[in-house]
Parts: sequence; C-alpha cells; structure tokens
Amino acid sequence: MYPVQLSKPLNVPVLTTTGRKARLGELEGRVFDLVVVGGGITGAGIARQASQCGLSVALLEAEDFAAGTSSRSSKLIHGGLRYLAMGDVGLVRETALERKAVHKLAAHLAEPAWMVVPARSRGTLLKFRAGIATYEKLGAVAPEDRHHNWNREDLAGAEPWLDRTAFPWACAYREYLTDDARLVLAVLRAAVNFGALVTNHLRAEEFTLSRGQVDGLVARCGLTGERIRVRGKAVINAAGPWVEDLLLTKRDDRTLHLSKGIHIAVPHPRLPLNNLIVLSTPDKRSIFAIPRGDVTYIGTTDTSYEGGPTLWPEILADDVNYLLAPLPRFFPDAALSRQDVVSAWAGLRPLVNQPGKAAREMSRKDEVWVGETGLVSIAGGKLTGFRKMAEDALQAVAPQFAQSLPCKDPLEPLPGGQLESVDELARRISRQYGLEDSNALRLVRLYGSETEQVIELNPEPVAESSRLLKGEIEWAVQVEAACCLEDVLYRRLRIAWFEPEEVRSNLDAIARLLAHLLGWSETEKKRQIDHIRNRRNKDMDFQSA
Ligand code: FAD
Repeated sequence: MYPVQLSKPLNVPVLTTTGRKARLGELEGRVFDLVVVGGGITGAGIARQASQCGLSVALLEAEDFAAGTSSRSSKLIHGGLRYLAMGDVGLVRETALERKAVHKLAAHLAEPAWMVVPARSRGTLLKFRAGIATYEKLGAVAPEDRHHNWNREDLAGAEPWLDRTAFPWACAYREYLTDDARLVLAVLRAAVNFGALVTNHLRAEEFTLSRGQVDGLVARCGLTGERIRVRGKAVINAAGPWVEDLLLTKRDDRTLHLSKGIHIAVPHPRLPLNNLIVLSTPDKRSIFAIPRGDVTYIGTTDTSYEGGPTLWPEILADDVNYLLAPLPRFFPDAALSRQDVVSAWAGLRPLVNQPGKAAREMSRKDEVWVGETGLVSIAGGKLTGFRKMAEDALQAVAPQFAQSLPCKDPLEPLPGGQLESVDELARRISRQYGLEDSNALRLVRLYGSETEQVIELNPEPVAESSRLLKGEIEWAVQVEAACCLEDVLYRRLRIAWFEPEEVRSNLDAIARLLAHLLGWSETEKKRQIDHIRNRRNKDMDFQSA
C-alpha cells in the first residue's frame, strides 16, 4: 500500500509520504556516504549535521520519526539543575548553553518559561538561589532572564493554586519548553533541505559486511514488507534503547541500562498552573508540573526497566500514584486521583550503565563507540544536547572520510523556525485569520513560521466541534510523512496526550480525512481507529488496577 499523490505541492523541505516508492528505489540505487539508523533526536541531529557538512546521508526509522524516547520526554530544553547536585558540571554547562542554540534554531521549539521552585522558608529559598545562580553562570544567562524571588503576594498573582501557607516563597528561573517529536521532525526536515534522504517505517534488519567492514544494511518497509539494500561508506547506529539489539559484535562491559519515565496529564482546569512548577517527592527527587494545551502534565519517574527495549512500556498504577503523591502538599485544593488522569505516556532512557548505581543516579552523558566492523554506535545523552551528540558521532566516523568532521554549525533556523516571538506571531495569526487566541497560539507552537502555510493549505475545521484544521492533517501527510493515524495523533498534532478530548470527539472525522488522503479502504480505516482505541485503553489500564 502506497499513499496516493496529493494535490497541492508546497515549496518547503518535505519528508517522505508522497512518492515513497520512488524514494525506496533511490535508497537502493545509490551508495551514500553515511547511513543513519534511528529517527529519534540523536539520529535526526546526526543526519542534519552530516548533510550540512556535505555528506550524502540516508536515515532509516523503523517505526515513525520520534516514535521512541524522543516523543516521551518531559519536553524541556534544559541543563538539568538536578544533575548539578549529582556533580555533572560539564554536562550541565554544555546543555545549559545549548538552550540558546536551540532557541536560535527554532524559537517555537524552545520557548522560554519560568520554572518555579516553591520554598518553605527564606533559608531554603537562599539555598535554592545559590544553586540557580551557579546554573545561570554556567549557561551564560542574559541579565533580563535571570531568576526572580517571589514572595507570598507575588505567588498569589502568579500561582494562586499553590499553598502559600506551606510555601510562602519561591524562586523562578528560566527554562525552555519544547515539543520533542516536532523538534525531531524539524531537525529531519533541515537534513532533507541539505540533501538527506529520510524515511520512516523502514526497519534496518541486518547489516552487510565487505572484508569485515560494515558497508550498509538490509531494511524492510513497514508498509509493504518489501526488503531493500542500502549501501553506505559509513553506518551510525543511533537506535536509542534498541542500540544494543543492532550491535554486530558484543560488548561485555558497557551494556545499556534502560530507565523508565512516565508522565500523566490532568485537565488544565483541575490543576490550572501558569508556570512550570518543581515538586519534591517523598524520596527526595524533583518532578515537574507543566501546563500545556488542554492539560497540565506531571512527571517524571526514573526506575530501572528490565523488560528490554519496547515502544510502549507499561504504565503501572504505582508509577501514577508516585506522581500524584506530592500534589496535596503543594495544591491542597486540587484533590486529584488516578481517575482524573486523561492521558499518560512512558518512555525509556537509554542510559550508559554505571554498575552499582540506581537509575536515578546514573549520568545522562552520551557515549560513542566504534566496533571492529567500523559500525559507530551512540547512546545516552539528552534531547537538549542533540547537536553535541551529532558532533561526537561524526568525529567517530571522520577517519573514514577525507574531510574534517564535524564542520561548523551556522545555526540556520530549522524549517518553521524563522520567528522572533511565539506570542507576537500568534497575535498576528489570530487577527489575520479570525482564530481564537488560544487556537492561534496552539498552531504557532506546532508550526512556527510555517503556520500561515498550514492554515492556507485548508482552513476548514476537521469537524464542526473541532478546532483542528484540515490543513494540519494534510500538512502531516504531505510535509511530515505521517503514514497512519497514530503518526498523526501522537507525533504530529500531539493531541493524543495534550488534547485528548479532540481525539475522543473527532477520531472518526480525522480518520475519514486521512483515509481520503492516503487511499485507505473502509477496512483499513477501521483497523487504524481500533488501533488507537486499543492503544489508549492499554495506556490507561492503570485506572482499573
Ligand atoms: P529514540 O528517540 O528512542 O530514537 C531511537 C529510534 O531508533 C526509535 O525511533 C526507534 O524506533 C528507532 N529504531 C530502533 N531500531 C531500529 C531499526 N532496526 N531500524 C531503524 N530504526 C530503529 N531530555 C531532555 O533534554 N529534556 C527532557 O525534558 C527530557 N526528559 C525525559 C523524560 C523521560 C521520561 C525520558 C525517558 C527521557 C527524557 N529525556 C529528556 C532524554 C531524551 O528524551 C532522550 O535522551 C532522547 O530522546 C533519546 O533519543 P534517541 O534518538 O537516542 O532515542
């Protein structure tokens, strides 16, 4: 089954839904400088950086772009203040500085927000401030973005739901919010702009060798089952939690350690926050409560996962209870239980193992290693540090090329990234197209400077009761290579987690539109709808525990 050709071609860098058959043919017919396995943020960053340096690049993603860990994060572009306490100063400096770089690449995918740390006393506040000041120094934070101290009166205005009797003080410092899956898509489209060939639903099944050295792989198309051979002078394995499944030679000493992190979301009116709030847990960890779309999400957990790599780690009632437990101390009026949770997601951190340490104590540093066959593998790290990880991986393949790698990154805006301020653009879009302010803001957060093109593709709502536009579904297929309902709901429009009511009310209408665009039969459409319903039931199973 191949998607039908769509009517309105757009002059923007596109991924690969239309013309997929021809693209698979091209993949098979060429010898690439570099083949990248894995379309999460790590693979995407490598593909962008390598093609920017002039290498010919093919990237293969087994499922959908960002289907793995890169759509399940806390969605922060941050240095991770808590890693400072763990002594990872180098990592914190690197990632704190990266915040500015990602903001420059795409202001809508690194939106500044206040992270609020509530304090019980002035003494605790001063302790927090010392750590935050160090963090700001490491991240070269501009004076206008430095932290503020809030007293009881400030908090009454900024966060009225916070218990000001228990927490009369707070320190608010700058972090950046992203949309992880959409960051991956934007980075991949930048790679395409530099000439990379990027394909989802194409699984690397086995590597091929020539005189003991890896020279490509055999891949299977997830839509047709067709097998193709892809040849490359170098191959990088960036398969995240699956990286060790794809190794050609065994490493005894440095196995990955998978750590599960879950998030839960409650309706925003049930926890109406204005900022990002840090909550302390009984076991002395920090979790976040973050407002977004129609929900406030809370996360995350950090527990060793023994089940092996999987796209859908189970969300247990204990995980959910752990995240709900601190809420009454901070927001006594919220009274939230498992039944109030409207969506939830889980992801696996591919951490580089440090024997003897618990998952929560392990470093978030990345590691690159080169096997005897020349296969370069990379794992660990954070979404925030994707440019640095790309540099590390390219340095490891550099000896195979007669040019120095990586080249300098000029930080050109990613597709959709040409904007100064999300709020300003949203105001203009709202006026120009007569959209509700909140809908204009939602669109700008998804599409950045390409919002007008999305609206003009088709400004009609997908259904009478919906604020989603038909243009968004068409864009997802035509520009962002969505091949199925799950791709659209979970990783393009993000409504499965952030606007679950849209999915509940308009699933059939969205599926109908997609069926028309992709040429599905009635049976296929029903199969797609059933898959989404089953997925949701499984993820919300903890409610019946
Ligand atoms: P993945 O995103 O998993 O990508 C690997 C890809 O490889 C997958 O899409 C998979 O389908 C594909 N693949 C596997 N096998 C094959 C094959 N045979 N052929 C082709 N493709 C294959 N970082 C931050 O900076 N900020 C945060 O707020 C943050 N929060 C987090 C919260 C949680 C709960 C978790 C789990 C992580 C968080 N992180 C955060 C870390 C960050 O999300 C990860 O470091 C990052 O997403 C890992 O990306 P990756 O590309 O290495 O892996």
